[in-house]
Amino acid sequence: MILPIYLYGQPVLKKVSEDITPEYPSLKELIENMFETMEHAEGIGLAAPQIGLAIRLVVVDLDVLAEDYPEFKDFRRVYINAHILETSDETESMEEGCLSLPGVHEKVTRPSRILVKYLDENFVEHEEWVDGFLARVMQHEFDHLEGKVFSDRISPLRRQMNKNRLANLAKGQVQCTYKVKRVLR
Ligand code: ZN
Repeated sequence: MILPIYLYGQPVLKKVSEDITPEYPSLKELIENMFETMEHAEGIGLAAPQIGLAIRLVVVDLDVLAEDYPEFKDFRRVYINAHILETSDETESMEEGCLSLPGVHEKVTRPSRILVKYLDENFVEHEEWVDGFLARVMQHEFDHLEGKVFSDRISPLRRQMNKNRLANLAKGQVQCTYKVKRVLR
């Protein structure tokens, strides 16, 4: 089932998300719905707050990038109760976009490497250092779990330049090819 994606300005995007247990209701179905929603919107990552749930659940599908990054062939992952434990001092800048901020694309500077801890869909714990493009995607998605979006991480000048667009998003005034949650509540 395709779920509406919550746009910038929705209060749930500012909440710090909670860990979940394997007993979380209809978790398997929820994960399937998140993959379907993300695919429909042509995204590569989706965090639960973006569908209105303040829980630490993220899905990532990098298979569409396999042409440029062969290591991402069939790369579909579920990250449950994800936390970033450490970050490298070294940083890099890359342009980002977000399904909750359609039309906004800005360069964001982030650590190049991160130590992450998470559970996979079978609730098996993983702890690993991640770098490259995946580290970028994880940091963007895991930010959602901390109540942050990428526009919080751009310079005041760039935010000022996007002011009208962000204000319109918060009012739900945006053209979108996918289903979105527009009205504030
Ligand atoms: Zn996002």
